[in-house]
Amino acid sequence: MRLVFLGPPGAGKGTVAGLLSARQGVIHIGSGDLLREAAAQGEPLGRKARGYMEKGALVPDELVTGMVLGFLEKLEGSQGFVLDGFPRTARQAEDLDEALARWNHRPVHLAVNFTVSREKIVERLSGRRVCSQCGTPFHTATLRPKKEGVCDRCGGALAIRPDDESQTVLKRLDVYEETARPLLDFYERQGKLRSFPVGRGLEEEYGSLVELLTAERLLNQG
Ligand code: AMP
Repeated sequence: MRLVFLGPPGAGKGTVAGLLSARQGVIHIGSGDLLREAAAQGEPLGRKARGYMEKGALVPDELVTGMVLGFLEKLEGSQGFVLDGFPRTARQAEDLDEALARWNHRPVHLAVNFTVSREKIVERLSGRRVCSQCGTPFHTATLRPKKEGVCDRCGGALAIRPDDESQTVLKRLDVYEETARPLLDFYERQGKLRSFPVGRGLEEEYGSLVELLTAERLLNQG
């Protein structure tokens, strides 16, 4: 299966994508994770991206697209993937389709649109914590680590992402609302857009996703 996860920041795309990857063996590529890693490594791309990210703005298409496509190009043409946070603009979606066709890779099957209220997003992001070492996400209310402040997976310290500070969250939501429509329309026109309401527990959401993917014949259940 080749999926793109769309939806506002804080909708849980990365968490659900991580679970899907762990349980179904598809590759999870999170554009925000790649950008944060590039920034942490001091790579030129990361240095350029950092200013935009800290303000809650989108990183320009030409920086992000090349980075994500560089990862995808290395995959086998038939290998499953879930892209989380990319594409975020219609231009990125067009470039993704073009690149897959150019490489003779199979096209995107489905665009799963995570939908959630603004209030819920603010609540989710204010409690979000991420491991400063491996990036695993946690939440102070809904996804607690076994030991407070410590990553279950690698023992790293948990931290608040700088762009989860409240003013930046509101800015990121505004940016999302301004840019999302053409992107959703792009996949709607292709008949690939599926609405996916979130805001429940992680396992419940994962179960709904499995149902959706099974109904779309992208997953064999049982
Ligand atoms: P995320 O982890 O997906 O919430 O992304 C964090 C930040 O990285 C965003 O607020 C943007 O500044 C930047 N970013 C991630 N993915 C993209 C993308 N596809 N296009 C533009 N900017 C992006």
